[in-house]
Amino acid sequence: MTSKHLRRLVDRYRIDRGKGFRLRDHDPADIGDGLIDHAESEALLADGVRRLAALQELLYPQDQWAVLCVFQAMDAAGKDGTIKHVMSGINPQGVEVTSFKQPGPEELAHDFLWRINRRLPQRGQIGVFNRSHYEDVLVVRVHPDLLARQHLPPALDGRKIWKHRLEDIAAFERYLSRQGFVVLKFFLHLSRAEQKRRFLARLDTPDKNWKFSAADIAERAHWDDYMNAYQDAIAATAAPHAPWFVVPADHKWFARLVVVEALVAALEDLGLKPPEMPADARARLEEARHRLEAEDG
Ligand code: ATP
Ligand code: MG
Repeated sequence: MTSKHLRRLVDRYRIDRGKGFRLRDHDPADIGDGLIDHAESEALLADGVRRLAALQELLYPQDQWAVLCVFQAMDAAGKDGTIKHVMSGINPQGVEVTSFKQPGPEELAHDFLWRINRRLPQRGQIGVFNRSHYEDVLVVRVHPDLLARQHLPPALDGRKIWKHRLEDIAAFERYLSRQGFVVLKFFLHLSRAEQKRRFLARLDTPDKNWKFSAADIAERAHWDDYMNAYQDAIAATAAPHAPWFVVPADHKWFARLVVVEALVAALEDLGLKPPEMPADARARLEEARHRLEAEDG
C-alpha cells in the first residue's frame, strides 16, 4: 500500500455533509480494501508522521491558519494512543493537547462553549481536543442528570435543546472556519465487541489495570444511546469546512494511519509555503552579514 492509496481511503471515511449519513453503514473493523498490510503499517505511519511534521514547520511561521483536531470516541477506542503516535513527530511548541473531563463548578457556571474557547489554538498552532464540545451533545444527552447541573433557565431546557445545541455547534465551527481554523473531527469508531476485548485485556494485564475504570462499564450499558447521539451529532455538524472522519478503530494501526493521512491531506490543501522575506528585511539581513564579517576575530 502507498500513501496515495491511503489518501483515497481517507476520502471514503470523510463525512462532509450530513444528508444521508448513517453510522450503521460504517464498519469499525474495516481495514480498507485488503491492499493494506499490517506489517508495513509501521513504516507508513512513520512516513505520515514525518510528512505531518514537515507541514507543521510551514504552518508555524506563516502564523495565519490554526488547526483544530477534535477526537471523540467510546472508552478504549484508542484516542490517547492515536494522539500520541500521530503527533509524535511534531515540534512540541507547535501543538497543544487538551483533555476535556467532567466540567467543574467554574465551567458549569458558564455556557458550554466557554471552556472550549479558552483552549482554542492560536494561529500557526495545532490544537488537539481529547473530547470536546461534543460531550455536551453526547454524554450529557445520554445522562439528563448532567444537563440538570448546567444552570440553564428552565425555559431553555426544553425538548429542542439537542437540536439547538447541534445548530450552535455547527454555527460555532463555521465561525471558526471563517476565522482561519481548519476544523477536523475524528470519531474513532469502535465496535462493542472490540471494546469488551480491550476492557478484558485491561483487567487481565496488571500493567493495564490503571486504564480501567468501573464507570466505563456503566457507560457501555448505554451503547445504543451513545450511537444514536453520535449519529445525530455527525449528521448535524458534518460540513466541508468542518468534516468528520468516521475512522474504523477496531484495528489501532489502521486508525492511526487514517488519522495521520487525513491531517496531512488537510494541511497540504492549504498550500503552505515558507514565508517570503520582503526586500527591506532581506536588505537588513545583508547588512547584518556585513557587520558580522567586519568584526575582528
Ligand atoms: P481515559 O479514560 O483514556 O483516561 P477519558 O477521556 O475517558 O480518557 P476520563 O477521565 O476517563 O478520560 O473521562 C472523562 C469523562 O468526562 C468522560 O466520561 C466524559 O464523558 C466526561 N465529560 C467530558 N466532558 C463532559 C461534559 N461536558 N459533561 C459531562 N461529562 C463530561
Ligand atoms: Mg475514560
